[in-house]
Amino acid sequence: MRTYDITLTISPDLVVWPSDPQVEFTRTAKISEGANANVTHLKFSAHTGTHVDAPYHFVDDGETVDNLSLDLLVGRAYVLHLPEADLITLEMLKNSSIPPRTKRVLFRTKNSEIWNSNSTIFQKDFVSLSAEAAEYLVARGVKLIGIDYLSIAPFGDSAPTHKILLKAGVVVVEGLNLSEVSQGRYTLYCFPLKLKGVDGSPARAVLFGV
Ligand SMILES: [Zn+2]
Repeated sequence: MRTYDITLTISPDLVVWPSDPQVEFTRTAKISEGANANVTHLKFSAHTGTHVDAPYHFVDDGETVDNLSLDLLVGRAYVLHLPEADLITLEMLKNSSIPPRTKRVLFRTKNSEIWNSNSTIFQKDFVSLSAEAAEYLVARGVKLIGIDYLSIAPFGDSAPTHKILLKAGVVVVEGLNLSEVSQGRYTLYCFPLKLKGVDGSPARAVLFGV
């Protein structure tokens, strides 16, 4: 069984959302300077790298990331490869191969290639999910949706797609790197940190081939 680590590496070089701070690692104790141990303090947005959006991100009385159900974050998932898409539309999904009763969908788009290019520039024209496509997935009973850039929604128009998904209790996973993953069925393990009262969290996301 093959394992795919679909998580971005968090480092000060990682591209972040334009309004988020750059990642900072501060070594506050160093063995090389006489300390007992090496210790690092971390400073970054909850929406850094591969991360989960909790409903509270766009819904003020929504659940926070510490209360997300592990039943949603772990289980069978379908990776849909849409190499031509500039925007994931309702029509595309109606004509797609997403199997019936799929609960988790991860979209592999040309976004994944951006991570392999090691570009340090934020890309505004990333592939995202239209509001109509989000409504369609909610109606189909999908409970977790993943995308391979830093937002599920189009840049400059983030509210509609996020609100449709998060109000319906769909877990959104952003910042995946799916460049090594073929279309098909997998088992997903996605573990955000248990941050009390927070709107999202970086996560380790792994797929197992089935
Ligand atoms: Zn986010």
